[in-house]
Amino acid sequence: MEFKCIQDCSQCCIEREYYPSKKFGKIGVLILPEEKQRIEKLARQKEIKINILPRIGISYEQNEQPTVLAYQMMGVENNGNTCPFLDTKTENRSPHGGYPCRVYVDRPLACMAFPLVQTEPIELDEKCKFCKEHGFANEGLNSEMESLLKIQTKMKIDAPYIWRFATGIGKEEDKNQIKTGWILDE
Ligand code: SF4
Ligand code: SF4
Repeated sequence: MEFKCIQDCSQCCIEREYYPSKKFGKIGVLILPEEKQRIEKLARQKEIKINILPRIGISYEQNEQPTVLAYQMMGVENNGNTCPFLDTKTENRSPHGGYPCRVYVDRPLACMAFPLVQTEPIELDEKCKFCKEHGFANEGLNSEMESLLKIQTKMKIDAPYIWRFATGIGKEEDKNQIKTGWILDE
């Protein structure tokens, strides 16, 4: 079956999840260190306020400050949802009827790779609406695969300590469970 976005869906640009658990808060769009300046510049040019936090870090000693391996661009809503680049106010829609991305041609690699996820073997993200409706796709994902492979090449982890940054962002009722700052991945 060929992958195609579901009519009128914008779910992956809107819904954010707690990952790997509630304690870490809602995650944002993965941004590689080499993409960070470019994305910040795009936001400035379009006068869109963005919030980029660290996402994954590595260190060679347990008590060392982690080096950032990847950042994340946070959603604009208090509960962590909705990418700042998603235009939810316009009448114009993307070719499949979803809300348009204001930086579509320059969007982060992670957006270009979605709905493929870094599993072994690579799979579709089960949160993607297409995946929920059809279960799998074996065509129409060449450019997504190319982008995912680029991310995998850039995110080689060669240090013994891996850290995740807890964002402190999530639903009001979950706030007492959500932490902020680096947490060693055990
Ligand atoms: S990738 Fe999946 S979740 Fe995102 S807009 Fe397309 S169908 Fe919806
Ligand atoms: S940058 Fe564009 S494609 Fe990526 S999540 Fe935001 S609105 Fe969606």
